[in-house]
Amino acid sequence: MEVRILKGANQIGGCVTEITSSKGTKIIIDFGEDLDDEEKKKIPDIKGLTKGEPKYKAVFITHSHGDHIGLINYILDTIPVYVEPISKEIYRLTSTFTSKKSRYDTIDMEFEKEILIDDIKVTPFFVDHSAYNASMLLIEGDGQRILHTGDYRNHGLKGDRFEETLKKIGKVNMVITEGTTLTRETKKYDTEEDIKNKAISLFQEYDQIFILQSSTNIDRIKSFYEAAKMTNKNFIEDIFTANITKSLNDETVPVPGKEKDVYVWVPCKYKRKKDEFKKDYIYPFLDYKKQSSYRDMKYCFMVKNSMAEDIGKLYKKGFISNPCLIYSMWEGYKEKSEMQEFFEEIKEYGLTEDRIKYLHTSGHASIEAFKMLNDYLKPEEIRIIHTDNQEKAYEVAKEIYGDKVKITFDKEEIEIGKNK
Ligand SMILES: [Zn+2]
Ligand SMILES: [Zn+2]
Repeated sequence: MEVRILKGANQIGGCVTEITSSKGTKIIIDFGEDLDDEEKKKIPDIKGLTKGEPKYKAVFITHSHGDHIGLINYILDTIPVYVEPISKEIYRLTSTFTSKKSRYDTIDMEFEKEILIDDIKVTPFFVDHSAYNASMLLIEGDGQRILHTGDYRNHGLKGDRFEETLKKIGKVNMVITEGTTLTRETKKYDTEEDIKNKAISLFQEYDQIFILQSSTNIDRIKSFYEAAKMTNKNFIEDIFTANITKSLNDETVPVPGKEKDVYVWVPCKYKRKKDEFKKDYIYPFLDYKKQSSYRDMKYCFMVKNSMAEDIGKLYKKGFISNPCLIYSMWEGYKEKSEMQEFFEEIKEYGLTEDRIKYLHTSGHASIEAFKMLNDYLKPEEIRIIHTDNQEKAYEVAKEIYGDKVKITFDKEEIEIGKNK
């Protein structure tokens, strides 16, 4: 088998991995956008994948984050794309709400069900991550076993399943792991349970809690909903979040209408949407759009940085008296111009700088999770992708893995199992 990181050995997101068997069967893992806004607009042209004669037998997507799935629309039509079905639905909703083109003819893959692509066998395994139903992929061929981790962690609400997953996978020859946090200062992260407890104390101090987080970070929605319940606050989801939570069909996730203290808000910007869109995504929730939930003056409201006008509406009606905004995303996004503009606008509505609170934990592997990979899978070789600095990540990883870890470059041909 041969592995090549076509892209992403030295960047977070937009990683593309190629695996080739000795008979020449080729597959791709992940085809997503770069996280950088400027880079995002550039579509990587890959011969045999996005143009020319199809060279790849299949593409496998690890999870619903845009940096892993966001470019599937550009894959040649005749190449099958495998995605876990709820991840596909989350991505479909995300594309629909952002008016982005996507591809919907993907093939469902199920956890722990093998998929045979000629002489390569691929098995997805459930893993804890800030994206719902994320997969690790075990790729087997030529008597070799490779684990591609996708993005993962063991400190989320389903973190205890990480060990179980690793045990099921068993010994592998090579691990290709994400290395997002290797170059960061923080080595230990709050668990989602810690986030919930910190949220409870914050929610006790303020009456109107505005939450800025990703609508697809389901663990976080659950943590904040629990905290809202504990502090007697109504929970209000913006319409995009409501569509996401409903699509999961997961009884542990709060959905407007399903729980009596969960409501919906339709942001001003959706007034301009076409009737067809409203019929499918807005009208089904209208019964749960109750103004009375704000009059109680104790609520927890999920917002987006495009919703300053909506917060202004509540302010003008006198529904904001003692507010705070919880910023619950990666801090790097704070620097974006639209975020800065949002912070500036909401100051007028009582959300001054001192009322903006940071409460977040990473969706990515901690040192403990990195160690567990090695302990359970006993790989002979480890490669790092999805890092903002390959050299630095490699140095840090050497302290964990010793000589097993090898520095990795884009397009380098990595042979595995040649001498066996
Ligand atoms: Zn990622
Ligand atoms: Zn991710």
